Amino acid sequence: MQPTVKLYETDAACRRFTARVLACEPAPGGWRAALDATAFYPEGGGQPCDTGALGGVTVTDVQLRGGVVWHTLEAPLPVGGTAEGVLDWARRLDHMEQHTGEHILSGTLHRLFGAENVGFHIGRPAVRMDMDRPLTAAQLAQAEAEANAAVRANAPVRAWYPGPAELAGLPYRSKKELAGPVRLVDAGGADLCACCGTHLARTGQVGQIKILSAQHYKGGVRLAVVCGGRAQAAVAEAWADAEATGALLSAGPGRLAPAARRAQEAAAETKQRLVALQRALAGALAAAAVPGAPFAAYCEGADADGLRRLCLAVAARTGALCAVFAPGGRGLAYALTAPGQDVRAVAAALNAAFDGRGGGSPEVCQGSLAAGGYEAARTFLLSGPNKP
Ligand SMILES: [Zn+2]
Repeated sequence: MQPTVKLYETDAACRRFTARVLACEPAPGGWRAALDATAFYPEGGGQPCDTGALGGVTVTDVQLRGGVVWHTLEAPLPVGGTAEGVLDWARRLDHMEQHTGEHILSGTLHRLFGAENVGFHIGRPAVRMDMDRPLTAAQLAQAEAEANAAVRANAPVRAWYPGPAELAGLPYRSKKELAGPVRLVDAGGADLCACCGTHLARTGQVGQIKILSAQHYKGGVRLAVVCGGRAQAAVAEAWADAEATGALLSAGPGRLAPAARRAQEAAAETKQRLVALQRALAGALAAAAVPGAPFAAYCEGADADGLRRLCLAVAARTGALCAVFAPGGRGLAYALTAPGQDVRAVAAALNAAFDGRGGGSPEVCQGSLAAGGYEAARTFLLSGPNKP
């Protein structure tokens, strides 16, 4: 099989072409066809393959094997005839935006901090970039700013095969030792790297480069990056989120953090007041309770801690069964105690009678009831025929 002429190497803007079908055979996924030339980029170098149509048949995968580009097809094509190839251009353009942006950012990180890119993959929703050393937030911000300056400079991007003498004199980045002819990419002066992928014609077409996140990875850092249309979408999404959050906090984007801190402080203060009020209420209820008499009360507003506190305070004075209820959980939350008695059996009976859930220790049980309501639960515990 003769090697396929790689139209995507010499003309990355080619989205429609005609070629001769040299072979077509059954293959996993349907059929696979080889042409004398193709603009379909085969998966490789971190860039996913192109998709589209060949002779009107859908192309689902493209792979390079021994110099031949194989196109996976849903149906066979006649061998010996010509076929028109049409690329899914939105997909390819997105890949070129991400890939060219990655070159500019990798080259900038290398120039500024000596960081090497040791892993790259155009995934979704972001591009993954693995750098070989730790980088601070300030270093990443500087690199992002300088990479975007290179985008705005709108310099030409060039890919070519230098001769051995020229190659020997060029300080290019490469992930591995390369055998055979080396294809270099000069990303507008921001990067010089061995690469087999497809790129935009000028850096300005990248539009924008945005680092979304950075995390420690194998002694270095793993970046999630978006470029071009993806960067625009990410900024729009983040801005809409900031505006929605701002409406909740009565603060505009840019002033969200102090507003969120004030809301947190207010919530903590309210919580402290609730705890103090529950303590005071526990003291008042205990003072009014009759020693030796079972007790039940409904305390709207009490939280789970409050129910427990109220219950224990009253029982300490009465020495008898004590139950306190409040809205919560499955409907009606409760805390139960009965000094000198394993209260778990009482809780189990209450749960069984009113579709409840919950339990605890022999001393205190807590849970909630879905059915019945407070009056029914009170009657059940204190005076009903099922009184425990
Ligand atoms: Zn490249």
